Amino acid sequence: MPRKFRKLETSKDLTRLMTRYYATRKLVGKVQPLAWVTSGAPVEILIGMGVATVYPENYGALVGAQRAAVPLAQVAEEKGFSPDLCSYARCHVGSVLNPKNAPQGGLPKPDLLVACNNICGTVIKWYQALAQELNVPLFLLDAPYQHEPGLADHTVQYVAAQLEEMIAWVTQHTGHKLNQKKFAQALRLSNEAVNLWREIREMCQARPSPLNAPDLFLTMAPIVVLRGTKDAVVFYEKLKAEVEGRVARGEGAILEERYRLLWDNIAIWYQLFRLFSLFTEAGACFVVDTYTNAWSVSVDTDDPMLGLAQTYSTVYINQSIQARAGLMTDLVERFGVDGMVFHSNRSCKPYSLGQYELLEQVSQRTGVPGLMLEADMCDTRLYAEEPIKNRIQAFLDLLESRPLSVPASSVGEAVEAH
Ligand code: SF4
Repeated sequence: MPRKFRKLETSKDLTRLMTRYYATRKLVGKVQPLAWVTSGAPVEILIGMGVATVYPENYGALVGAQRAAVPLAQVAEEKGFSPDLCSYARCHVGSVLNPKNAPQGGLPKPDLLVACNNICGTVIKWYQALAQELNVPLFLLDAPYQHEPGLADHTVQYVAAQLEEMIAWVTQHTGHKLNQKKFAQALRLSNEAVNLWREIREMCQARPSPLNAPDLFLTMAPIVVLRGTKDAVVFYEKLKAEVEGRVARGEGAILEERYRLLWDNIAIWYQLFRLFSLFTEAGACFVVDTYTNAWSVSVDTDDPMLGLAQTYSTVYINQSIQARAGLMTDLVERFGVDGMVFHSNRSCKPYSLGQYELLEQVSQRTGVPGLMLEADMCDTRLYAEEPIKNRIQAFLDLLESRPLSVPASSVGEAVEAH
């Protein structure tokens, strides 16, 4: 069957970049301190202190995409880690306990651990377990959950004060001080990459959309693991040029765009192309998602510590359902979305709890229907192929049966699990 989507030229650069990233991380730890960090850690400070970073969550995604998660997760489960825990955590702990059977032999051993709970509480226990197992110091950065819209001044001050403590802690364990020049450069490069990433994503408002969710899920890797480096900027400049070219030529990510969809939650990594091909075949393109949108906020550099505190405290899943509903409504309206697909992700409780309410609220505000799919981002044992296929077909039939532009006041519909 002929392919119904356009492959990105830049994906070759991405493969090269990420292969180099993992290869160099194996060596870099020999010449500078290496920290394992969570995806929402203020990495700009660590770069400014000459500390290299590796992201266990990105490793989890990689393991998930390679369908190598279950045997690793089982290593952790046999050691008493509950199967209900996040599969990134279970796979990564499994790779630490049994590196011989882990892709790439696991991650290079760290000198430091830095975890920020702006994404979830799981990372606290996960990193504590790592600290115990590896006998490595751990810094926990507490970014309070945002129950109300608008970040309170005292929260910003509280987080900023911890960033100062983190600097002192890194110095204590490595002897490295914060180099202001390197720090300023990391902030500038981080902002440049984030701004490019935001511009690329915004271009998906075009009809047809130049990118589909699988493109976004793959090309997001550098904004996570190479934030604050020139490599990320160079990659996103190239990707932006390719996306601009597509928009100028009226070329879509899929060959015939009939429906424009929004994806909520982390990708189902082991099903990335197979799952999305069900939508692509029907002319449904995911023009926007909430997950890759999370790395679109730059840091105010007037007062870098306050700016970092502000940006890292307000990541998407550190905010209330009301705030998320507002953001999602905005995305639905700006990107001309016809339907929303929510991945109810067994692993990621903070992302998944409240999704039914979100679906209802955003549907009510926009008139756009939603579909709930239950699965897991890495653990293939939690993917039921036939029921998922059936639900997707029912949802596509629903889209087919309705006009594509719906008055904002009409009440949305949901296709749910049975
Ligand atoms: S629970 Fe969710 S936010 Fe936390 S590490 Fe796992 S996937 Fe990431």
